Amino acid sequence: MSAGCPVSVLVIGAGFGGIGVAIELRRHGFGDITILEKAPDLGGVWRENTYPGAACDVPSPLYSYSFEQKPDWPQRYSGQAAIHAYLRGVTERHGLLDRIEFDVEVTDAVFDEESGRWTVHSADGDTRVADVLISAVGQLSRPQLPDIPGIGSFTGSAFHSALWDHGVDLTGKRVACIGTGASAIQYVPAIQPQVAQLTLFQRTPAWVLPKFDTDYSPIQHKLFAKIPGMLLLERLGWWLTAEISSLGLVELPIISRLVSRMAARNLTKNVDDPELRAKLTPDYPIACKRTLFSSDYYPALTRPNVEVTTAAVTEITAQGVRTGDGTLHEADVIIYGTGFKGTEFLWPMRIRGRGGRELADTWADGAHAYYGITVPEFPNLFMVYGPNTNLGVGSIIYMIESQSRYIRQAVQLLDATPGHTLEVRAETERAFNDELQKRLDRTPWNFCSSWYRNAAGKITNNWPGTVTRYRRRVRTLDPDDYTLTPAA
Ligand code: NAP
Repeated sequence: MSAGCPVSVLVIGAGFGGIGVAIELRRHGFGDITILEKAPDLGGVWRENTYPGAACDVPSPLYSYSFEQKPDWPQRYSGQAAIHAYLRGVTERHGLLDRIEFDVEVTDAVFDEESGRWTVHSADGDTRVADVLISAVGQLSRPQLPDIPGIGSFTGSAFHSALWDHGVDLTGKRVACIGTGASAIQYVPAIQPQVAQLTLFQRTPAWVLPKFDTDYSPIQHKLFAKIPGMLLLERLGWWLTAEISSLGLVELPIISRLVSRMAARNLTKNVDDPELRAKLTPDYPIACKRTLFSSDYYPALTRPNVEVTTAAVTEITAQGVRTGDGTLHEADVIIYGTGFKGTEFLWPMRIRGRGGRELADTWADGAHAYYGITVPEFPNLFMVYGPNTNLGVGSIIYMIESQSRYIRQAVQLLDATPGHTLEVRAETERAFNDELQKRLDRTPWNFCSSWYRNAAGKITNNWPGTVTRYRRRVRTLDPDDYTLTPAA
């Protein structure tokens, strides 16, 4: 950034993270912002995941921006369409729609030490230059298909949950569903009444808590709109519930024990058949994988047209799914609810920092960043929802707001020091990560496999604590944690 010029900012991704950070910067007077979005529409995961039953299992008053509370959410746990529409409305109200360039897929970004600026290339061959680069590409944007032999040989329809093929009519079909994570738990009960036969291939059973969903009535909408503090109270209640649950991760394991009892009771209450109940009983501590919320998943699994198979999937054939016991489960449709490439942060973008250093090399042993936001040797590069900022329980939007405020302070610092670049000190980031890893060692995430850990087992995705703890730490950017370097 040269003296007298406003700081220019490029944001990658127009999901909750990218829109949230852009709003924060705009509200503090930074107008030179461009958001690059690879898709033709905004929304991130809320644009992508349109599977039947797609909803957020975090209550809407909490899963929304603090500065854009919505009194008329249709439900406590609103569906994908309502959340997507909310984000579009917020974007429009904040005048950001015309700041988004759609269908622009960033392929690589290079830091130029001479100018102290980032040069960003996109798949369409365009090049853009900015002082600050903010990645807001999320952790769950790249679907993961399983590495099962013969996966391409199936002659029926097959798709991933995040790439749902709405052209396929499931009515009366034999449907094979592979995977039992947060996505599957929503679409399995949604499609079960429609299909002839649903075979659910479960590798690991999930801990499932009941979901106390409700439609908000017109009276509640009026009360939320008219009585100051009422919606805030609803938000606060859910925030507190999530915070108390998060204390179970490290500080107060007794909370996790109580929650696992609730989940076990939920299973016994809903599933009478001892054989099915045994299949659905987890053998690892609660919260190790994401704890799931549903009141219709277990009932759906007890229906006569559903079979839960725990034999390992060994092969996909032209006719269906073969399991380790040799059985071929014939199917018309295969649905892969097999998750995302969550540990490959920012991939496949190539990001080159100081001295041409590749971010992928810096992260060869697993992604890490100072508060998940910034990395030594990558000046003026910031991330929203970066490494170790995912939550086991709670609202990511709360984390996004914390990060946005922190990044805004960094941009303010750059604005106040024209001609300089800002870079976190290596020893500061190292000390932070050492402390983080020690704390992560004490969490239940170590006791099973999940998308929270990379292939080597390092927990790269989650924040080991409450959102309060995170917000307290990032509330004020300490300039001593950084070096300000004059551009050459
Ligand atoms: P996921 O939680 O990663 O679950 C993937 C599932 O596929 C697991 O059950 C996994 O089994 C199974 N699987 C993978 N490969 C397999 C194979 N070769 N054979 C058999 N099973 C296989 O993915 P997801 O359900 O899409 O959820 C991902 C994340 O998205 C969630 O954790 C959550 O953060 C987010 N999400 C949030 C909501 C919400 O309401 N807020 C809703 C949906 C998703 P193993 O467990 O044995 O690995």
